[in-house]
Amino acid sequence: ARATYAAARPKSAELHEAARRVMPGGNTRTVLFWSPFPISMVRGEGARLWDADGHAYTDLLGEYTAGLFGHSERRILDAARAAMDTGINLAGAGANEIRFAELVCARFPSIERVRFTNSGTEANIMALSAARAFTGRAEIMVAKGGYHGGVMTFATGQSPVNLPVPTRFLAYNDVEGTVAAIREAGDKLAAVLVEPMLGSGGCIPATREFLAALRDACTETGAVLIFDEVMTSRHSEGGLQQRHGVIPDMTTLGKYIAGGMNVGAFGGRAAIMDVFDAHRPGALPHAGTFNNNVWSMAAGCVALGELFRGEVVEALFQRGEKLRAELNALCAEAGVAMQFTGAGSMMTAHFRTGAIKAPYAATPEEEQRRELFFLDMLEAGFYLARRGMVALSLPLAPTDLSGFTAAFREFLNLRGPVLG
Ligand code: PMP
Repeated sequence: ARATYAAARPKSAELHEAARRVMPGGNTRTVLFWSPFPISMVRGEGARLWDADGHAYTDLLGEYTAGLFGHSERRILDAARAAMDTGINLAGAGANEIRFAELVCARFPSIERVRFTNSGTEANIMALSAARAFTGRAEIMVAKGGYHGGVMTFATGQSPVNLPVPTRFLAYNDVEGTVAAIREAGDKLAAVLVEPMLGSGGCIPATREFLAALRDACTETGAVLIFDEVMTSRHSEGGLQQRHGVIPDMTTLGKYIAGGMNVGAFGGRAAIMDVFDAHRPGALPHAGTFNNNVWSMAAGCVALGELFRGEVVEALFQRGEKLRAELNALCAEAGVAMQFTGAGSMMTAHFRTGAIKAPYAATPEEEQRRELFFLDMLEAGFYLARRGMVALSLPLAPTDLSGFTAAFREFLNLRGPVLG
């Protein structure tokens, strides 16, 4: 399958060789690397992508959830362009920044005050900093196999928020163990940072019971509960927290919220976020040249204010639920060791049976099957994440999804003996 893949993409191969001369491994985003070389994309429109060798794909990756609106949503492009027509960043506060902040605060139950960043990574770093400053405590707790950004190791520096952070780990969905761990950390623990569904960790949802237990244990010990909803905030207008009815103290956001433009946001209870209130002496600094860049602020107003609301949000969620059920029914019908976990418009293929409640180390066989699935879907014209993740976008047509299930059925039939 690899040889077929490589033979059909000489241009991507050539570009990768050029890339390797100037970038280690030939890329600048680890998730976009695979062997022998990743695809060079040249154009996107709606939910369609074209590569450098002229192949067209249905985009089921949706830029790891940031591409919710597709590649050419007219109103987002118009808003971003109109903002840039008034000048590329003006080193000042702006009306769109206020409007975007109002939309975020109105939408997410846990967010009374918000600040913007360039990325989800920064949003998480700043949320943890806020929690440490607010509680006066040092330690943080995160889930084994969770993902919160590319730079979650903190450089030693002069500011107390930059000191290396003593970190404890919890086992995802382990209610008793986690509650005990939080209690044991007691008043040393500043924050618990978790995704309400593991995204990069394999689209593994938390149970409501687990999230509620986190909520109670944090209330009991005074640790700040932070939900990383960088990926999952698409699951209802108020995020996955609203679907579960479990409201954290702080929430971090990113990906699609600015229509696909670069962005991150973190917010929470006013009392916590006030550690950044520069009207107060000793406030924590939070700087960043592009934090309020004009294109992201303008696009964000359209994305949250006009495009992704109400029924549109719920319809996307239900579309994903239906697709996942269909794919799982096909796996069952074929009798293969394969399943899709997830919630709503996000799902990941796993090559084993039985309930998956926490991340695990895949066996070499599972890795092989995952690669085969990925390469076969590419050959069938469907672009998904190398790790088997699908993130639906709004412009996908019903025929795109039925085409995918048809291609998947074919994959199961053809590969039955290999997968069985
Ligand atoms: N948190 C989660 C849950 C994520 O999935 C990601 C990105 N994949 C991040 C944080 C980091 O966001 P960014 O890539 O914008 O820094």
